[in-house]
Amino acid sequence: MSKPKVAVFSFTGCEGCSLEILNCEDEIPEILNHVEFVNFREAMSERADDYEIAFIDGAITTPSDVEEIKEIRERAKVLIPIGACATLGGLNVMKNYKGLDYCLKKVYGDKADWFKTVEAQPVEAVVPVDLKIYGCPPPKSEILEVIKAVLSGRTPRIPNYPVCVECKQKGNVCQWLKGNVCMGVVARAGCGAICPSYGKPCVACRGLLDDAENNACKEVMAEHGLTMEQILKEYQLYNGFYEVAKK
Ligand code: SF4
Ligand code: SF4
Repeated sequence: MSKPKVAVFSFTGCEGCSLEILNCEDEIPEILNHVEFVNFREAMSERADDYEIAFIDGAITTPSDVEEIKEIRERAKVLIPIGACATLGGLNVMKNYKGLDYCLKKVYGDKADWFKTVEAQPVEAVVPVDLKIYGCPPPKSEILEVIKAVLSGRTPRIPNYPVCVECKQKGNVCQWLKGNVCMGVVARAGCGAICPSYGKPCVACRGLLDDAENNACKEVMAEHGLTMEQILKEYQLYNGFYEVAKK
């Protein structure tokens, strides 16, 4: 029986999320027993257009990105954005706030007219997606969980509870008690609360919980005199696309 063919494509981002697939070094031999990579520019020179499963890293930020992701969507049975830029738009969304003309001139100066750009978007804003792998970069465990789930036809186990749960399990002193705004109350867990565990507030690089608007975090924010609108401003670093889109 032939193995499912897998492609990995990179759009606008640092490509660290697809590199994280290669960082699954111990598991790659077993993965290769079950799938065949046919297009993955960080790992091979071949460029096949015949694949069933496509992983996408990076945000969609140019007119040619829009066309390319639509073509990939037509070819792939399963399309999986991987990482913060592909799932949320990520840091690229800063250009939406600043203005496209301003950013083009700032970066390319008097050559700005040579380049075309569109507002930075997560993949799902342009084409339908089947699953998402969160994080900046995603944990290897989540990449492996999604690969196993796709191959066995089940739903992957992706946390839909706050980073605070993992943070409490680590025994950290809460950042709010240190006078900091920490997005862990509304951010999707799965990273092991790595930022607060190293003394930094969470900035929600894994996106928000599905039910963030109705989460008990409202009470936590109210205790500290903050509203959901105020905390949404704090999450613009990674999640700004959804705020820009609402305006
Ligand atoms: S430090 Fe952040 S993640 Fe940890 S408990 Fe406090 S709000 Fe939650
Ligand atoms: S603690 Fe927050 S910002 Fe840090 S990796 Fe986890 S979700 Fe991302």
